[in-house]
Amino acid sequence: DDPGNVKVVVRCRAFVRREREKGTQCLIRMDPATQKTTLLAPSDFDSNPNTRKVYEDKEFIFDKSFWSHDEDDPHYAHQEDVYRSFGEEFLDHNFDGYHTCIFAYGQTGSGKSYTMMGTPEQPGLIPRTCEELFDRIHQEPSPNTNYHVHVSYFEVYNEHVRDLLTPRTNPPIYLKIRESQTEGVYVQGLTEAEVKSYADVERLMRLGDMSRTTASTKMNDTSSRSHAVFTIQLKQIQHSLLSDQTIERCARMRLVDLAGSERAKSTEATGQRLKEGGQINRSLTTLGRVIAALADPRRHAKGRRPRDIVPYRDSVLTWLLKDSLGGNSKTAMVACIAPSDYEETLSTLRYADQAKRIRTRASVNQDCMS
Ligand code: ADP
Ligand code: MG
Repeated sequence: DDPGNVKVVVRCRAFVRREREKGTQCLIRMDPATQKTTLLAPSDFDSNPNTRKVYEDKEFIFDKSFWSHDEDDPHYAHQEDVYRSFGEEFLDHNFDGYHTCIFAYGQTGSGKSYTMMGTPEQPGLIPRTCEELFDRIHQEPSPNTNYHVHVSYFEVYNEHVRDLLTPRTNPPIYLKIRESQTEGVYVQGLTEAEVKSYADVERLMRLGDMSRTTASTKMNDTSSRSHAVFTIQLKQIQHSLLSDQTIERCARMRLVDLAGSERAKSTEATGQRLKEGGQINRSLTTLGRVIAALADPRRHAKGRRPRDIVPYRDSVLTWLLKDSLGGNSKTAMVACIAPSDYEETLSTLRYADQAKRIRTRASVNQDCMS
């Protein structure tokens, strides 16, 4: 076993046009020397003392802080820098036979999809990981090592799982979740497409993304309410002529673009939020509870059985990501923040701060056959 903490990084995006036009104030500072992220109290606050909230500066330290706010800054973090900083390392883990998971958290518009998927000109973590995966496979010098790669892509919307690699139907087809001794938790009937090259993956990514965006124009912003989970299964078969042994390593990487975190507010629900009942995202609120339970230092106290405390099974997403969150996986969280939203950003940073305390125990998934 290789126990380790969830790696937590934070990324601050540039102003979008609307913010630039309004002359919005940037509330984020990042110190490249210490990785410290500071959230500044807004100066243009409400002048009415009765309704005014008291803001203060807040400081956080994460494993890495990515400053993607202004391109002229020497410390500006490009897509490439984000990938080199930990995407690459996670791919190394996969080749060593470990499961990994990277998930992006943050409010709608904070840069989650940009970080995970990116654009054709500015590809994000998912395409970069897949491209390098195939570069490495094609450079494999040993004729006795074979690789098999499968990908799947699904979304969780309103506690339903939908395959993004099959054409949309009306009514939609929802897939069931199953749990077995041998396979763990899985989605029954999910397309697991075999891919032989990066071009194959690229085609499937596009197909899946289109399926996701088609829905969002029809159904009022599905992508802010749905969780998209892209999974790569890497199977490595090594045959040793010397010992006549075959070693099979299976690693799974999950790359998750979560629903907008503003949907997680149900626990602090005000009258307003309760009225919008449909907006409450059960998977996201449960994820918060799972993270809180996993980060709780009392979890490892004597006599406690963690299994009984962590509410994985209370939502579809947390059930599916059970292993990725607190089990056999090396896991990273990218907290995406907008530069000028004090309250949402504070809530994201606090969430990320809690995730730092989660420990997972990854082990190499390997079988020897002789
Ligand atoms: P989310 O998926 O969290 O809702 P998006 O990834 O769609 O947010 O980002 C919102 C907008 O900001 C998009 O127009 C995106 O292209 C832009 N954006 C996000 N992050 C960056 C970044 N690091 N650099 C440049 N533009 C960005
Ligand atoms: Mg998005």
